[in-house]
Amino acid sequence: MEEEGHIKKMAQMLRKGYTMVSDVCPACQSPLFLDKSKQLFCANCEKRVIKTKGDEGITALMQESGLLELKKVLNQKLNYINALISKEKNLDELNSLLRVLLALLDSIERIKRIGTPNIEGNK
Ligand SMILES: [Zn+2]
Repeated sequence: MEEEGHIKKMAQMLRKGYTMVSDVCPACQSPLFLDKSKQLFCANCEKRVIKTKGDEGITALMQESGLLELKKVLNQKLNYINALISKEKNLDELNSLLRVLLALLDSIERIKRIGTPNIEGNK
């Protein structure tokens, strides 16, 4: 039943002018669609999917939600801490700011790693 709705949805996408591509959704493995502005979209999850380039030039697919949003927030915090550090003159305060900075950088690094899953299908 669910499957049927899914196929109907995909047919609708094609009728709307979306193009089906060979990439699959990182979350549900459904084929992705490309809209007119060349953006990937998963009809099943009803979410936009973004291609990200990893450190080694590996292209990964990522849903525009959760993690990506979190990464944005962390980057904002990073800028904030940066500004605080540049103004801080008290060494003790600076020390705790640096600790926060390191934790932020560590988190961002981890998100990057999660964001580049093995989707090349090496099964
Ligand atoms: Zn999906």
